[in-house]
Amino acid sequence: MDAAFNPADEAFRDEVRAFFKAKLPEHFKRQAQLAPSYVKKEDTRAWHRALYEQGWIAPRWPVEYGGTGWTPTQKHIYEEEYQRAYAPRLSSFGIGLVGPVIFTFGTPEQKAQHLKPILSGEITWCQGYSEPGAGSDLASLKTRAVRDGDDYVVNGQKIWTSHAHHADWIFALVRTDSDPAKKRQEGISFLLIDMKTPGVDVRPIISIDGGHYLNEVFFTDVRVPVANRIGEENKGWTYAKFLLGNERTGIAGVGKSRRKIEKIVGVARAERSDDGGALWDDPAFRARLMEYATKLTALENTNLRMLGREAAGKKIGAEASMLKIAGTEIEQGLNELLVFALGNYVQPYERESLRLDANEFVGPDHGRGAMTEHLLRRAASIYGGTNEVQRDIIAKRVLGL
Ligand SMILES: Cc1cc2nc3c(=O)[nH]c(=O)nc-3n(C[C@H](O)[C@H](O)[C@H](O)COP(=O)(O)OP(=O)(O)OC[C@H]3O[C@@H](n4cnc5c(N)ncnc54)[C@H](O)[C@@H]3O)c2cc1C
Repeated sequence: MDAAFNPADEAFRDEVRAFFKAKLPEHFKRQAQLAPSYVKKEDTRAWHRALYEQGWIAPRWPVEYGGTGWTPTQKHIYEEEYQRAYAPRLSSFGIGLVGPVIFTFGTPEQKAQHLKPILSGEITWCQGYSEPGAGSDLASLKTRAVRDGDDYVVNGQKIWTSHAHHADWIFALVRTDSDPAKKRQEGISFLLIDMKTPGVDVRPIISIDGGHYLNEVFFTDVRVPVANRIGEENKGWTYAKFLLGNERTGIAGVGKSRRKIEKIVGVARAERSDDGGALWDDPAFRARLMEYATKLTALENTNLRMLGREAAGKKIGAEASMLKIAGTEIEQGLNELLVFALGNYVQPYERESLRLDANEFVGPDHGRGAMTEHLLRRAASIYGGTNEVQRDIIAKRVLGL
């Protein structure tokens, strides 16, 4: 593997940096720094549009469907610079998740209907996988779809559906065969459902940080054209697994964690009013931070090693679980350390920072949004497949235990 970046890669990095510098409005950056999950919907859409117009919206898609044709290393550089620039995170449900399912398994009509609006950001999506009682054990899902002429009639409930209250469409796993003699995975189908269809009801779940981005989605006699099914009936598990494989790409979050370390150093170096010293003078604190910095370097190298393998045409499978575990543990550890370093200042920062239009903040800049981020990202080790389940995957499929 060639982990070092060559001059062409460095030139590419300069191009990406120059684009972000020129096109990323200061207030988008500020919002993303304050509370990344609270970037306004219209701003997210505007940023999506800017990337679409630049032709950079879907680096992982094949060129024929609107991808960039970048090498794995260029994709890595782009993601790193994206995070470093504090560019707002865009929803992954369309471009990252359902788009690849549609261009891989969809009919020509489904491709014609959905791919362009996904790329342009005109239509947004949410993910209807989890149900009460079906999370890690997803195959136990119970939402039913019963065939009636050219439609399915869908009844049931999804939960933890991120951004369902903004989404235009949902991709949902539904049960189309409940025969107890068959494996549960063999009775699942993958449907594309317009959220405006009568019988779709979205109810909010407020998360621990006080924000609303999670929901419950109820389906009551919702009629979905059979033409909206991806692939074959009862083969939905295959497409669902393909989609989950894409969910774990780009999850290491190296650039974001590097920025966090810079923040923590800034806070720790500041003089404290109580005893006149700085937290930075405490060797135990520095040791904790250095431990994360070392882990982050190891993570970056692991990420680059996998990219090298991908560039050599090898498939990355279960190994991506390592990136998910390490990336989220480092992220959560650094969030905790930042909150610790800020001490009493954490609460006033939050009160101010959640008012996104306010221009005034309490305390120095590096603390903004720290508590919000800390609380919100407790979920990072749960969503996208819990870290315990990722460990199971590594045990079975990487270590062969
Ligand atoms: C912020 C957030 C956003 C989300 N967004 C979406 C979304 O948009 N769409 C969607 O469909 N879902 C979404 N989810 C749901 C998410 O995918 C599930 O929460 C996750 O898969 C875990 O399922 P569960 O919550 O039912 O927990 P459970 O599966 O009940 O797990 C409970 C605990 O048991 C452990 N456990 C379970 N099975 C095993 C095992 N085999 N071995 C070891 N330990 C195990 C888990 O690790 C966990 O600690 C979101 C969740 C969160 C928190």
